[in-house]
Amino acid sequence: MAIYNPKSLKAEEFINDAEILATIEYAEANKSNLPLIDEILKKARPQKTESGVVCAGLSHREASVLLACDIPEKVEEIYQIAEEIKLAFYGNRIVMFAPLYLSNYCVNGCLYCPYHLKNKHITRKKLTQEEVKAEVIALQDMGHKRLAIEAGEDPVNNPLEYILECIKTIYSINHKNGAIRRVNVNIAATTVEDYRKLKEAGIGTYILFQETYHKESYLTLHPTGPKHDYDYHTEAMDRAMEGGIDDVGLGVLFGLEKYKYEFAGLIMHAEHLEAVHGVGPHTISVPRVKRADDIDPDVFDNSIPDEMFEKIIACIRLAVPYTGMIISTRENEKVRERVLRLGISQISGGSRTSVGGYTEEERPHDSEQFDVSDQRSLDEVVNWLMVNGHIPSFCTACYREGRTGDRFMALCKNGQILNCCHPNALMTLAEYLTDYASEETKERGMALIEKELKKIPKDKIRGIAAENIEAIFNSNRRDFRF
Ligand code: SAM
Repeated sequence: MAIYNPKSLKAEEFINDAEILATIEYAEANKSNLPLIDEILKKARPQKTESGVVCAGLSHREASVLLACDIPEKVEEIYQIAEEIKLAFYGNRIVMFAPLYLSNYCVNGCLYCPYHLKNKHITRKKLTQEEVKAEVIALQDMGHKRLAIEAGEDPVNNPLEYILECIKTIYSINHKNGAIRRVNVNIAATTVEDYRKLKEAGIGTYILFQETYHKESYLTLHPTGPKHDYDYHTEAMDRAMEGGIDDVGLGVLFGLEKYKYEFAGLIMHAEHLEAVHGVGPHTISVPRVKRADDIDPDVFDNSIPDEMFEKIIACIRLAVPYTGMIISTRENEKVRERVLRLGISQISGGSRTSVGGYTEEERPHDSEQFDVSDQRSLDEVVNWLMVNGHIPSFCTACYREGRTGDRFMALCKNGQILNCCHPNALMTLAEYLTDYASEETKERGMALIEKELKKIPKDKIRGIAAENIEAIFNSNRRDFRF
Protein backbone atom coordinates (compact mmCIF):
# COMPACT_ATOMS: atom_id res chain seq x y z
CA MET A 1 0.00 0.00 0.00
CA ALA A 2 1.32 3.46 -0.90
CA ILE A 3 2.49 5.57 2.06
CA TYR A 4 1.54 9.24 2.24
CA ASN A 5 4.44 11.52 1.39
CA PRO A 6 3.77 15.12 0.27
CA LYS A 7 7.32 15.36 -1.13
CA SER A 8 6.97 12.33 -3.36
CA LEU A 9 6.55 12.79 -7.11
CA LYS A 10 4.29 9.74 -7.34
CA ALA A 11 0.57 10.53 -7.54
CA GLU A 12 -0.50 7.74 -5.18
CA GLU A 13 1.92 8.99 -2.52
CA PHE A 14 1.16 12.73 -2.52
CA ILE A 15 -2.58 12.24 -3.18
CA ASN A 16 -2.81 9.30 -0.89
CA ASP A 17 -6.15 7.50 -0.66
CA ALA A 18 -5.53 6.12 2.86
CA GLU A 19 -4.53 9.58 4.12
CA ILE A 20 -7.65 11.15 2.59
CA LEU A 21 -9.89 8.51 4.17
CA ALA A 22 -8.13 8.96 7.54
CA THR A 23 -8.55 12.74 7.18
CA ILE A 24 -12.30 12.42 6.58
CA GLU A 25 -12.57 10.12 9.60
CA TYR A 26 -10.51 12.50 11.76
CA ALA A 27 -12.66 15.45 10.63
CA GLU A 28 -15.87 13.59 11.41
CA ALA A 29 -14.59 12.57 14.86
CA ASN A 30 -13.58 16.17 15.65
CA LYS A 31 -16.34 18.17 14.01
CA SER A 32 -17.75 19.15 17.42
CA ASN A 33 -14.42 19.32 19.25
CA LEU A 34 -14.63 22.98 20.29
CA PRO A 35 -11.10 23.42 21.72
CA LEU A 36 -9.59 21.96 18.53
CA ILE A 37 -11.87 24.02 16.28
CA ASP A 38 -10.97 27.19 18.17
CA GLU A 39 -7.28 26.37 17.88
CA ILE A 40 -7.62 25.84 14.11
CA LEU A 41 -9.59 29.07 13.69
CA LYS A 42 -6.93 30.94 15.67
CA LYS A 43 -4.21 29.56 13.41
CA ALA A 44 -6.16 30.58 10.30
CA ARG A 45 -6.77 34.16 11.39
CA PRO A 46 -4.58 36.86 9.72
CA GLN A 47 -1.87 38.18 12.07
CA LYS A 48 -0.42 41.69 11.98
CA THR A 49 3.39 41.73 11.97
CA GLU A 50 5.94 44.51 11.42
CA SER A 51 6.18 43.72 7.72
CA GLY A 52 2.42 43.46 7.21
CA VAL A 53 -0.36 40.95 7.62
CA VAL A 54 0.55 37.27 7.46
CA CYS A 55 -1.48 34.08 7.44
CA ALA A 56 -0.37 30.61 8.48
CA GLY A 57 -2.80 28.65 6.32
CA LEU A 58 -4.10 25.23 7.37
CA SER A 59 -3.15 21.62 6.75
CA HIS A 60 -5.58 19.37 4.88
CA ARG A 61 -6.56 17.76 8.19
CA GLU A 62 -7.22 21.06 9.94
CA ALA A 63 -9.16 22.47 7.00
CA SER A 64 -11.20 19.25 6.75
CA VAL A 65 -12.24 19.58 10.41
CA LEU A 66 -13.60 23.06 9.67
CA LEU A 67 -15.41 21.79 6.60
CA ALA A 68 -17.06 19.05 8.68
CA CYS A 69 -17.95 21.37 11.57
CA ASP A 70 -21.63 22.33 11.63
CA ILE A 71 -21.83 24.40 14.80
CA PRO A 72 -23.57 27.56 13.49
CA GLU A 73 -21.41 30.09 15.43
CA LYS A 74 -18.20 28.38 14.32
CA VAL A 75 -19.34 28.23 10.70
CA GLU A 76 -20.08 31.93 10.95
CA GLU A 77 -16.54 32.45 12.26
CA ILE A 78 -15.12 30.53 9.29
CA TYR A 79 -16.95 32.95 6.99
CA GLN A 80 -15.72 35.97 8.93
CA ILE A 81 -12.10 34.82 8.77
CA ALA A 82 -12.45 34.04 5.06
CA GLU A 83 -13.64 37.62 4.51
CA GLU A 84 -10.77 38.98 6.61
CA ILE A 85 -8.20 37.01 4.60
CA LYS A 86 -9.80 38.07 1.35
CA LEU A 87 -9.61 41.71 2.35
CA ALA A 88 -6.07 41.47 3.75
CA PHE A 89 -4.53 39.96 0.59
CA TYR A 90 -6.83 40.81 -2.25
CA GLY A 91 -8.63 43.90 -0.95
CA ASN A 92 -11.84 44.57 -2.84
CA ARG A 93 -10.23 43.94 -6.23
CA ILE A 94 -11.62 41.29 -8.57
CA VAL A 95 -9.56 40.34 -11.59
CA MET A 96 -11.52 39.88 -14.83
CA PHE A 97 -10.91 37.30 -17.55
CA ALA A 98 -12.66 35.48 -20.38
CA PRO A 99 -12.32 31.94 -21.71
CA LEU A 100 -11.50 31.52 -25.39
CA TYR A 101 -12.41 28.14 -26.87
CA LEU A 102 -10.00 27.25 -29.67
CA SER A 103 -11.13 23.76 -30.60
CA ASN A 104 -13.59 21.16 -29.36
CA TYR A 105 -12.01 18.23 -31.18
CA CYS A 106 -11.22 15.69 -28.49
CA VAL A 107 -10.14 12.07 -28.35
CA ASN A 108 -11.05 11.52 -24.70
CA GLY A 109 -14.16 9.87 -23.35
CA CYS A 110 -14.87 12.07 -20.26
CA LEU A 111 -18.41 11.17 -19.18
CA TYR A 112 -19.27 14.72 -17.98
CA CYS A 113 -18.00 16.65 -21.00
CA PRO A 114 -19.95 17.11 -24.25
CA TYR A 115 -16.68 17.18 -26.23
CA HIS A 116 -16.18 13.44 -25.62
CA LEU A 117 -15.23 11.43 -28.70
CA LYS A 118 -18.47 9.46 -28.91
CA ASN A 119 -20.59 12.60 -29.21
CA LYS A 120 -21.24 12.47 -32.95
CA HIS A 121 -23.89 15.16 -33.23
CA ILE A 122 -22.07 18.12 -31.58
CA THR A 123 -20.62 20.51 -34.16
CA ARG A 124 -16.85 20.09 -34.15
CA LYS A 125 -14.96 23.30 -34.73
CA LYS A 126 -11.37 24.44 -34.66
CA LEU A 127 -10.56 28.09 -35.14
CA THR A 128 -8.28 29.09 -38.02
CA GLN A 129 -5.75 31.82 -37.23
CA GLU A 130 -8.03 34.30 -39.01
CA GLU A 131 -10.88 33.19 -36.76
CA VAL A 132 -8.67 33.44 -33.66
CA LYS A 133 -7.92 36.99 -34.71
CA ALA A 134 -11.62 37.82 -35.12
CA GLU A 135 -12.46 36.33 -31.70
CA VAL A 136 -9.63 38.24 -30.05
CA ILE A 137 -10.76 41.50 -31.63
CA ALA A 138 -14.28 40.85 -30.33
CA LEU A 139 -12.86 40.16 -26.85
CA GLN A 140 -10.64 43.26 -26.98
CA ASP A 141 -13.66 45.32 -28.03
CA MET A 142 -15.44 44.11 -24.90
CA GLY A 143 -12.47 45.30 -22.84
CA HIS A 144 -10.76 42.03 -21.94
CA LYS A 145 -7.01 41.94 -21.32
CA ARG A 146 -6.67 38.42 -19.90
CA LEU A 147 -7.79 35.18 -21.51
CA ALA A 148 -7.90 31.54 -20.58
CA ILE A 149 -7.57 29.48 -23.75
CA GLU A 150 -9.40 26.16 -23.79
CA ALA A 151 -9.15 23.18 -26.08
CA GLY A 152 -10.02 19.51 -26.17
CA GLU A 153 -7.22 16.95 -26.39
CA ASP A 154 -6.54 15.83 -29.92
CA PRO A 155 -2.94 15.34 -31.07
CA VAL A 156 -3.97 15.41 -34.73
CA ASN A 157 -6.43 18.31 -34.81
CA ASN A 158 -5.07 20.42 -31.91
CA PRO A 159 -1.40 19.50 -31.45
CA LEU A 160 0.73 21.69 -29.23
CA GLU A 161 2.05 23.50 -32.33
CA TYR A 162 -1.51 24.66 -33.03
CA ILE A 163 -1.91 25.95 -29.46
CA LEU A 164 1.45 27.77 -29.70
CA GLU A 165 0.46 29.34 -33.00
CA CYS A 166 -2.81 30.55 -31.48
CA ILE A 167 -0.96 32.08 -28.51
CA LYS A 168 1.34 33.93 -30.90
CA THR A 169 -1.65 35.23 -32.87
CA ILE A 170 -3.46 36.32 -29.70
CA TYR A 171 -0.49 38.30 -28.37
CA SER A 172 0.13 39.91 -31.79
CA ILE A 173 -3.24 41.64 -32.07
CA ASN A 174 -3.68 45.26 -31.03
CA HIS A 175 -7.06 46.44 -32.14
CA LYS A 176 -7.64 50.14 -31.35
CA ASN A 177 -6.37 50.48 -27.75
CA GLY A 178 -6.90 46.77 -27.11
CA ALA A 179 -4.39 44.11 -26.16
CA ILE A 180 -4.46 40.68 -24.61
CA ARG A 181 -1.67 40.93 -22.06
CA ARG A 182 -1.93 37.57 -20.37
CA VAL A 183 -2.90 34.24 -21.90
CA ASN A 184 -3.58 31.48 -19.40
CA VAL A 185 -3.79 28.00 -20.83
CA ASN A 186 -6.21 25.19 -19.97
CA ILE A 187 -5.20 22.21 -22.07
CA ALA A 188 -4.69 18.53 -21.34
CA ALA A 189 -1.74 17.18 -19.34
CA THR A 190 1.39 17.04 -21.45
CA THR A 191 5.16 16.50 -21.36
CA VAL A 192 7.89 18.60 -19.70
CA GLU A 193 9.11 19.51 -23.19
CA ASP A 194 5.67 20.83 -24.18
CA TYR A 195 5.36 22.77 -20.93
CA ARG A 196 8.74 24.35 -21.68
CA LYS A 197 7.41 25.46 -25.08
CA LEU A 198 4.31 26.95 -23.46
CA LYS A 199 6.52 28.83 -21.02
CA GLU A 200 8.61 30.16 -23.91
CA ALA A 201 5.41 31.28 -25.66
CA GLY A 202 4.80 33.60 -22.69
CA ILE A 203 1.80 31.99 -21.06
CA GLY A 204 0.54 33.16 -17.68
CA THR A 205 -0.94 30.34 -15.61
CA TYR A 206 -1.12 26.73 -16.74
CA ILE A 207 -4.51 25.50 -15.56
CA LEU A 208 -5.48 21.86 -15.35
CA PHE A 209 -8.47 20.64 -13.40
CA GLN A 210 -7.97 17.36 -11.62
CA GLU A 211 -11.72 16.71 -12.14
CA THR A 212 -11.64 14.20 -9.27
CA TYR A 213 -8.88 13.12 -6.92
CA HIS A 214 -10.62 9.78 -6.32
CA LYS A 215 -8.65 7.36 -8.50
CA GLU A 216 -11.32 4.73 -8.95
CA SER A 217 -13.96 7.29 -9.92
CA TYR A 218 -11.44 9.05 -12.13
CA LEU A 219 -10.82 5.85 -14.09
CA THR A 220 -14.57 5.29 -14.51
CA LEU A 221 -15.27 8.89 -15.49
CA HIS A 222 -12.42 8.87 -18.05
CA PRO A 223 -12.92 5.44 -19.61
CA THR A 224 -11.01 6.04 -22.82
CA GLY A 225 -8.31 8.25 -24.31
CA PRO A 226 -5.03 9.58 -22.89
CA LYS A 227 -6.84 11.31 -20.03
CA HIS A 228 -7.65 7.87 -18.59
CA ASP A 229 -4.12 7.80 -17.10
CA TYR A 230 -4.76 9.09 -13.56
CA ASP A 231 -1.11 9.24 -12.54
CA TYR A 232 -0.02 11.13 -15.66
CA HIS A 233 -2.84 13.63 -15.12
CA THR A 234 -2.23 14.04 -11.38
CA GLU A 235 1.53 14.51 -11.82
CA ALA A 236 1.09 17.10 -14.60
CA MET A 237 1.73 20.14 -12.40
CA ASP A 238 5.10 18.75 -11.36
CA ARG A 239 6.05 18.38 -15.03
CA ALA A 240 4.74 21.91 -15.72
CA MET A 241 6.92 23.28 -12.95
CA GLU A 242 9.88 21.26 -14.18
CA GLY A 243 9.27 22.87 -17.58
CA GLY A 244 9.62 26.31 -15.99
CA ILE A 245 5.96 27.28 -15.50
CA ASP A 246 5.75 28.50 -11.94
CA ASP A 247 2.15 29.72 -11.94
CA VAL A 248 -0.10 26.68 -12.01
CA GLY A 249 -3.86 26.52 -11.42
CA LEU A 250 -5.57 23.58 -9.72
CA GLY A 251 -9.28 22.74 -9.73
CA VAL A 252 -11.83 20.07 -8.98
CA LEU A 253 -15.02 19.55 -10.96
CA PHE A 254 -17.39 19.48 -8.00
CA GLY A 255 -20.30 17.11 -8.32
CA LEU A 256 -18.41 14.11 -9.70
CA GLU A 257 -17.27 12.66 -6.36
CA LYS A 258 -17.97 13.28 -2.67
CA TYR A 259 -16.90 16.81 -1.79
CA LYS A 260 -15.03 15.89 1.42
CA TYR A 261 -12.73 13.62 -0.54
CA GLU A 262 -12.14 16.25 -3.23
CA PHE A 263 -11.51 18.97 -0.68
CA ALA A 264 -8.85 16.97 1.18
CA GLY A 265 -7.24 15.96 -2.14
CA LEU A 266 -7.15 19.55 -3.37
CA ILE A 267 -5.46 20.88 -0.24
CA MET A 268 -3.01 17.94 -0.29
CA HIS A 269 -2.14 18.79 -3.89
CA ALA A 270 -1.41 22.39 -2.84
CA GLU A 271 0.73 21.12 0.06
CA HIS A 272 2.60 18.85 -2.32
CA LEU A 273 3.48 21.70 -4.71
CA GLU A 274 4.67 23.82 -1.79
CA ALA A 275 6.73 20.92 -0.37
CA VAL A 276 8.39 20.00 -3.67
CA HIS A 277 8.67 23.30 -5.53
CA GLY A 278 8.61 25.80 -2.67
CA VAL A 279 5.52 27.51 -4.08
CA GLY A 280 1.88 26.56 -3.90
CA PRO A 281 -0.68 26.84 -6.70
CA HIS A 282 -1.21 30.32 -8.14
CA THR A 283 -4.94 29.71 -8.42
CA ILE A 284 -7.64 27.24 -7.51
CA SER A 285 -10.81 26.97 -9.59
CA VAL A 286 -14.06 25.61 -8.24
CA PRO A 287 -16.23 24.58 -11.21
CA ARG A 288 -19.43 22.59 -10.66
CA VAL A 289 -20.76 20.14 -13.26
CA LYS A 290 -23.30 21.79 -15.54
CA ARG A 291 -25.84 20.68 -18.08
CA ALA A 292 -24.41 20.57 -21.59
CA ASP A 293 -25.25 19.11 -25.00
CA ASP A 294 -25.61 15.38 -24.21
CA ILE A 295 -24.66 15.75 -20.53
CA ASP A 296 -27.22 15.59 -17.74
CA PRO A 297 -25.54 16.72 -14.49
CA ASP A 298 -28.14 14.81 -12.45
CA VAL A 299 -26.57 11.47 -13.38
CA PHE A 300 -23.64 12.38 -11.14
CA ASP A 301 -25.18 12.04 -7.71
CA ASN A 302 -22.65 14.13 -5.77
CA SER A 303 -23.91 17.60 -6.60
CA ILE A 304 -23.50 20.08 -3.77
CA PRO A 305 -26.02 22.68 -2.62
CA ASP A 306 -25.05 26.35 -2.75
CA GLU A 307 -24.54 26.58 1.04
CA MET A 308 -21.97 23.76 1.01
CA PHE A 309 -20.31 25.23 -2.06
CA GLU A 310 -19.88 28.52 -0.17
CA LYS A 311 -18.44 26.70 2.84
CA ILE A 312 -15.94 24.84 0.63
CA ILE A 313 -14.78 28.15 -0.85
CA ALA A 314 -14.40 29.72 2.60
CA CYS A 315 -12.43 26.73 3.89
CA ILE A 316 -10.11 26.80 0.85
CA ARG A 317 -9.58 30.51 1.57
CA LEU A 318 -8.46 29.68 5.13
CA ALA A 319 -6.26 26.76 4.07
CA VAL A 320 -4.34 28.47 1.22
CA PRO A 321 -4.59 32.22 1.86
CA TYR A 322 -2.05 33.22 -0.81
CA THR A 323 -3.69 31.33 -3.65
CA GLY A 324 -6.07 33.21 -5.96
CA MET A 325 -9.51 31.66 -6.42
CA ILE A 326 -11.45 31.61 -9.66
CA ILE A 327 -15.13 31.29 -10.41
CA SER A 328 -16.61 31.11 -13.88
CA THR A 329 -19.96 31.91 -15.46
CA ARG A 330 -21.03 28.35 -14.59
CA GLU A 331 -22.37 30.05 -11.45
CA ASN A 332 -25.26 32.48 -11.37
CA GLU A 333 -25.24 36.07 -10.15
CA LYS A 334 -26.53 35.24 -6.67
CA VAL A 335 -23.91 32.60 -5.92
CA ARG A 336 -21.16 34.76 -7.40
CA GLU A 337 -22.14 37.71 -5.21
CA ARG A 338 -21.80 35.66 -2.04
CA VAL A 339 -18.56 33.83 -2.88
CA LEU A 340 -16.80 37.01 -3.99
CA ARG A 341 -16.81 38.04 -0.34
CA LEU A 342 -15.61 34.64 0.86
CA GLY A 343 -12.42 34.47 -1.12
CA ILE A 344 -12.91 34.51 -4.88
CA SER A 345 -10.39 36.86 -6.51
CA GLN A 346 -10.96 36.25 -10.24
CA ILE A 347 -14.13 35.93 -12.28
CA SER A 348 -14.99 35.65 -15.94
CA GLY A 349 -17.48 38.00 -17.54
CA GLY A 350 -19.37 38.07 -20.83
CA SER A 351 -18.18 34.50 -21.47
CA ARG A 352 -19.08 32.29 -24.38
CA THR A 353 -18.13 28.64 -24.06
CA SER A 354 -18.49 27.69 -27.71
CA VAL A 355 -15.78 27.64 -30.35
CA GLY A 356 -16.10 30.91 -32.29
CA GLY A 357 -18.83 32.19 -29.95
CA TYR A 358 -17.60 35.77 -29.55
CA THR A 359 -18.05 36.68 -33.20
CA GLU A 360 -21.66 35.47 -33.30
CA GLU A 361 -24.49 37.94 -32.78
CA GLU A 362 -26.52 35.54 -30.60
CA ARG A 363 -25.00 33.17 -28.00
CA PRO A 364 -24.51 29.94 -30.02
CA HIS A 365 -25.23 26.57 -28.37
CA ASP A 366 -24.12 24.06 -30.99
CA SER A 367 -20.49 23.73 -29.85
CA GLU A 368 -20.87 24.93 -26.25
CA GLN A 369 -18.96 23.16 -23.48
CA PHE A 370 -21.50 23.90 -20.79
CA ASP A 371 -24.54 26.10 -20.18
CA VAL A 372 -23.56 29.57 -18.98
CA SER A 373 -25.57 30.62 -15.90
CA ASP A 374 -24.36 34.20 -15.74
CA GLN A 375 -25.25 35.53 -19.18
CA ARG A 376 -24.64 39.21 -18.51
CA SER A 377 -22.33 41.30 -20.69
CA LEU A 378 -18.88 42.27 -19.39
CA ASP A 379 -20.11 45.85 -18.92
CA GLU A 380 -23.03 44.63 -16.81
CA VAL A 381 -20.71 42.47 -14.69
CA VAL A 382 -18.24 45.34 -14.22
CA ASN A 383 -21.04 47.69 -13.18
CA TRP A 384 -22.56 45.09 -10.83
CA LEU A 385 -19.17 44.47 -9.18
CA MET A 386 -18.81 48.18 -8.44
CA VAL A 387 -22.35 48.44 -7.09
CA ASN A 388 -21.38 45.64 -4.69
CA GLY A 389 -18.25 47.43 -3.50
CA HIS A 390 -15.63 45.62 -5.61
CA ILE A 391 -13.00 47.06 -7.94
CA PRO A 392 -13.02 45.24 -11.30
CA SER A 393 -9.36 44.91 -12.25
CA PHE A 394 -7.90 44.19 -15.68
CA CYS A 395 -4.39 44.04 -14.27
CA THR A 396 -1.81 41.68 -15.74
CA ALA A 397 1.25 43.40 -14.27
CA CYS A 398 2.72 40.75 -11.97
CA TYR A 399 3.55 38.23 -14.58
CA ARG A 400 4.82 40.86 -17.01
CA GLU A 401 7.08 42.30 -14.30
CA GLY A 402 8.41 38.80 -13.52
CA ARG A 403 6.48 38.53 -10.27
CA THR A 404 5.46 34.90 -10.69
CA GLY A 405 5.70 31.90 -8.38
CA ASP A 406 7.34 32.71 -5.06
CA ARG A 407 8.03 36.34 -6.12
CA PHE A 408 4.28 36.94 -6.31
CA MET A 409 3.81 35.26 -2.94
CA ALA A 410 6.53 37.55 -1.51
CA LEU A 411 4.58 40.61 -2.68
CA CYS A 412 1.52 39.32 -0.81
CA LYS A 413 3.48 38.44 2.29
CA ASN A 414 5.30 41.79 2.41
CA GLY A 415 2.03 43.69 2.51
CA GLN A 416 2.87 45.59 -0.71
CA ILE A 417 -0.45 44.88 -2.34
CA LEU A 418 -1.96 48.29 -1.55
CA ASN A 419 1.07 50.00 -3.10
CA CYS A 420 1.14 47.78 -6.14
CA CYS A 421 -1.98 45.78 -7.01
CA HIS A 422 -4.38 48.48 -5.87
CA PRO A 423 -3.03 51.25 -8.16
CA ASN A 424 -2.65 48.72 -10.99
CA ALA A 425 -6.31 47.76 -10.58
CA LEU A 426 -7.39 51.41 -10.69
CA MET A 427 -5.26 52.23 -13.74
CA THR A 428 -6.56 49.23 -15.70
CA LEU A 429 -10.12 50.03 -14.65
CA ALA A 430 -9.55 53.57 -15.97
CA GLU A 431 -8.54 52.03 -19.33
CA TYR A 432 -11.72 49.97 -19.38
CA LEU A 433 -13.91 52.96 -18.51
CA THR A 434 -12.36 55.20 -21.17
CA ASP A 435 -12.27 52.68 -23.99
CA TYR A 436 -15.21 50.33 -23.49
CA ALA A 437 -17.69 51.20 -20.74
CA SER A 438 -21.27 52.39 -21.06
CA GLU A 439 -21.98 55.88 -19.73
CA GLU A 440 -23.49 54.55 -16.51
CA THR A 441 -20.55 52.24 -15.80
CA LYS A 442 -18.09 55.01 -16.62
CA GLU A 443 -19.68 57.47 -14.25
CA ARG A 444 -19.79 54.94 -11.43
CA GLY A 445 -16.21 53.83 -12.11
CA MET A 446 -14.76 57.33 -12.12
CA ALA A 447 -16.29 58.03 -8.72
CA LEU A 448 -14.92 54.72 -7.44
CA ILE A 449 -11.41 55.48 -8.71
CA GLU A 450 -11.42 58.85 -6.98
CA LYS A 451 -12.42 57.23 -3.70
CA GLU A 452 -10.04 54.25 -3.97
CA LEU A 453 -6.98 56.32 -4.94
CA LYS A 454 -7.00 57.70 -1.41
CA LYS A 455 -6.31 54.22 -0.02
CA ILE A 456 -2.82 54.00 -1.55
CA PRO A 457 -0.49 54.41 1.45
CA LYS A 458 2.65 55.81 -0.22
CA ASP A 459 2.33 59.47 -1.32
CA LYS A 460 4.64 59.01 -4.26
CA ILE A 461 2.80 55.97 -5.64
CA ARG A 462 -0.57 57.68 -5.11
CA GLY A 463 0.68 60.71 -7.05
CA ILE A 464 2.01 58.65 -9.96
CA ALA A 465 -1.18 56.57 -10.13
CA ALA A 466 -3.35 59.71 -10.22
CA GLU A 467 -1.18 61.21 -13.01
CA ASN A 468 -1.35 58.01 -15.04
CA ILE A 469 -5.12 57.84 -14.67
CA GLU A 470 -5.37 61.44 -15.89
CA ALA A 471 -3.24 60.47 -18.90
CA ILE A 472 -5.48 57.46 -19.64
CA PHE A 473 -8.64 59.58 -19.52
CA ASN A 474 -7.15 62.42 -21.58
CA SER A 475 -4.88 60.71 -24.10
CA ASN A 476 -4.22 57.42 -25.83
CA ARG A 477 -1.46 56.46 -23.40
CA ARG A 478 -2.11 52.99 -21.94
CA ASP A 479 -0.48 50.09 -20.09
CA PHE A 480 0.97 51.85 -17.05
CA ARG A 481 1.95 49.49 -14.26
CA PHE A 482 3.82 49.17 -10.99
N1 SAM B 1 -9.31 19.38 -22.39
C1 SAM B 1 -8.57 19.87 -21.26
C2 SAM B 1 -8.50 18.81 -20.19
O1 SAM B 1 -8.93 17.71 -20.46
O2 SAM B 1 -8.03 19.09 -19.13
C3 SAM B 1 -9.09 21.10 -20.62
C4 SAM B 1 -10.08 21.95 -21.26
S1 SAM B 1 -11.75 21.64 -20.81
C5 SAM B 1 -12.27 22.59 -22.15
C6 SAM B 1 -11.96 22.60 -19.34
C7 SAM B 1 -12.71 22.02 -18.19
O3 SAM B 1 -14.11 22.11 -18.37
C8 SAM B 1 -12.48 20.58 -17.86
O4 SAM B 1 -11.29 20.37 -17.18
C9 SAM B 1 -13.72 20.24 -17.01
O5 SAM B 1 -13.44 20.34 -15.62
C10 SAM B 1 -14.72 21.33 -17.37
N2 SAM B 1 -15.98 20.74 -17.86
C11 SAM B 1 -16.15 19.77 -18.76
N3 SAM B 1 -17.44 19.45 -18.88
C12 SAM B 1 -18.14 20.23 -18.03
C13 SAM B 1 -19.51 20.36 -17.67
N4 SAM B 1 -20.47 19.60 -18.21
N5 SAM B 1 -19.84 21.27 -16.73
C14 SAM B 1 -18.91 22.06 -16.16
N6 SAM B 1 -17.60 21.98 -16.47
C15 SAM B 1 -17.21 21.07 -17.38
